[in-house]
Amino acid sequence: MSEIDPLDADLLRQPDVDPSFASNAPGPAVATTDGGVITLVTTARFLTDDDVNMVVGVDFGERVLWAAAVVGPDGVKQVEMESGREFRHYREQLDRRREQLSEQGDLRGIRETRGDRERYTEQKTHTATRRIVDLAAEHAPCKIRYEDLTDYRETADDAIHDWPHGMLTEQLAYKATEAGLPVEAIDPANTSITCRQCGETNPQFRDQDDFECWECGYEVHADVNAAINIAQWT
Ligand SMILES: [Zn+2]
Repeated sequence: MSEIDPLDADLLRQPDVDPSFASNAPGPAVATTDGGVITLVTTARFLTDDDVNMVVGVDFGERVLWAAAVVGPDGVKQVEMESGREFRHYREQLDRRREQLSEQGDLRGIRETRGDRERYTEQKTHTATRRIVDLAAEHAPCKIRYEDLTDYRETADDAIHDWPHGMLTEQLAYKATEAGLPVEAIDPANTSITCRQCGETNPQFRDQDDFECWECGYEVHADVNAAINIAQWT
């Protein structure tokens, strides 16, 4: 059996297309190769800032894994979040299981459970980012905005820093692009300690899950407040 050389220029050349079809196409076609199989992928036209007036602000949380707020010109349309309890609990269970196996000297068990924690984490990040992009797609045209926590994570020291921010934002950007939705990373300064209602900033407004503004009396889940701030960030 002869193999197709994926780099064969003749095979990569795009087929002739009917010009009338081409003018209606949503975007340029790109030839990709995957294991010698050549497929034509039509890329979606990318939305620009002028096309969108809805923003989904995403706060990758501490006690809450993520909170997302859909905000448009008329205010907050929808809010969703996912508790981090199950994630932490299951990962603790996996850690305990590994410790037990280690104490028992069960080498086979240790081998079989290797990578379980990472796989579970990856699965959770996929589910989370899928849901966020689906939520955004329900409100399209819209953009997804999240905090760029690259620097913050290096110095911070709490449990949720196991929640892999890099993997999350990477998957979020990838899935959003696939869905034709733009993404934007912003500087996270003060999003969690600023009142989304009156704009007052004070670290004391936040106490774990609770946000209470002493200025205007606004009370809300702290991660929801942060997600709305991210969506409204200018
Ligand atoms: Zn306030």
